[in-house]
Amino acid sequence: MTQGRKVHIVGAGLAGLAAAVRSAELGLQVQLSEGAPQAGGRCRSFEDSVLGRIIDNGNHLILGANPAIFAYLGAIGAVDKLTSLESACFPFLDVSSGAAWTVRPGAGRWPWWLLDPDRRVPGARLADYWAMLRILNAPASARLDEYVNVQAPMFARFWEPLALAVLNTEAAASSARLLGRVLAETLMRGGAASRPYFAHAGLGSALVDPALAFLERSSVATRFSCRLRGMDVNDDRVTRLIFDDEVIEIGADETVILAVPSWEAGALIPGLVVPTETRPIVNAHFQIESAFDFADGAPFLGVIGGTAHWLFRRGDVVSATVSAAGVLADDVALQVAEAIWRDVAAAIGRPGSPLPRHRIIKEKRATIAQTPGQDALRPPTATRWRNLLLAGDWTQTGLPATIEGAVGSGRHAAELAGNLAK
Ligand SMILES: Cc1cc2nc3c(=O)[nH]c(=O)nc-3n(C[C@H](O)[C@H](O)[C@H](O)COP(=O)(O)OP(=O)(O)OC[C@H]3O[C@@H](n4cnc5c(N)ncnc54)[C@H](O)[C@@H]3O)c2cc1C
Repeated sequence: MTQGRKVHIVGAGLAGLAAAVRSAELGLQVQLSEGAPQAGGRCRSFEDSVLGRIIDNGNHLILGANPAIFAYLGAIGAVDKLTSLESACFPFLDVSSGAAWTVRPGAGRWPWWLLDPDRRVPGARLADYWAMLRILNAPASARLDEYVNVQAPMFARFWEPLALAVLNTEAAASSARLLGRVLAETLMRGGAASRPYFAHAGLGSALVDPALAFLERSSVATRFSCRLRGMDVNDDRVTRLIFDDEVIEIGADETVILAVPSWEAGALIPGLVVPTETRPIVNAHFQIESAFDFADGAPFLGVIGGTAHWLFRRGDVVSATVSAAGVLADDVALQVAEAIWRDVAAAIGRPGSPLPRHRIIKEKRATIAQTPGQDALRPPTATRWRNLLLAGDWTQTGLPATIEGAVGSGRHAAELAGNLAK
């Protein structure tokens, strides 16, 4: 046991929280410092004054094949804060034509369901699925459009919604390798791995609050509203952390885990190469007064042919996500709401109905751009300084920049900190 060795974690997004939880489990002494007044970073809930509801900054889909998330939830005692559909199913609606279909991965490990016309994407030919197999071995340099025909119906009906949801990047230019990794671990492994999970009472109540409670029980010192402004390093290690309110000397046997976003890490660490491009996500939350449902009664719906990409239902609120939102993220909120509402109204069978009470949330730097070029800039956990480790969805996890990647990176950094302390 490594009791007493100290690790300073900066950033209380999911990477930093996961690093703190794992470090505490390993018996390290933890200090967690967050620049914002609250934890959660890009994955958080808040009480919205317009809707009078707790809403999330954006819809977050978690899948059965997310081992780091489930290990984290197990550690903080919050597995029951997620609910899942009984079997994997992904309903879609094309709002331009009214066509609707549902992709239903089979329960088994082998994707035999791809051969069943009732379970797969309409208009798709078996040949289209050949690309799915080839993409599993795509090299790091490959774009999605090198593997799939962007003119084929399968592109608009399957590849594009998948790439937008998972990579938050224009589908054609997105990384084939990252998408292949997700396919290998989800759809190609069948039902359990592809089952979608939802934080029924919000992201905060599932992923953030139980972690803070665990840290408190573990006597972890957590500070908010203290921003790291700089670091002193020598040839070998970090020697000081310079916060707004204090300077912390880093002892020779202490470790620093920097769990801030890519652009912050790039500014804080001299010479660190980080991804340089980000993509926005726009979320629109609409309060619907009378009862409504999506196709199949599922709590979510993929949309093509309009502005919105995915719709999620929680209570009387429909939340619509537009990934890789481009110029939409610069439009005025009312215009954004009107454009997205047209799709939502169609999806709940009320086309042309007036815009209800709503809230627009624009996350201008929601994730790094997940093109092959940007993926190549993601640094590993260890740095050239022996006591400085990196965590965050943007580090080289081999996964897309998602909650699973963020949590996994934090847990991995904590394991390395534990090894350093031995
Ligand atoms: C709208 C939206 C929708 C998304 N949808 C999905 C989804 O469906 N599925 C999915 O898996 N992922 C999704 N993601 C991505 C997911 O939210 C992120 O991958 C994850 O939250 C990143 O966590 P992180 O800890 O790496 O970074 P962050 O959450 O950015 O955490 C970094 C923390 O560091 C703090 N910080 C920054 N600078 C300093 C400093 N100088 N000093 C101290 N603290 C500092 C920040 O305040 C922040 O709390 C979505 C993201 C957004 C924005």
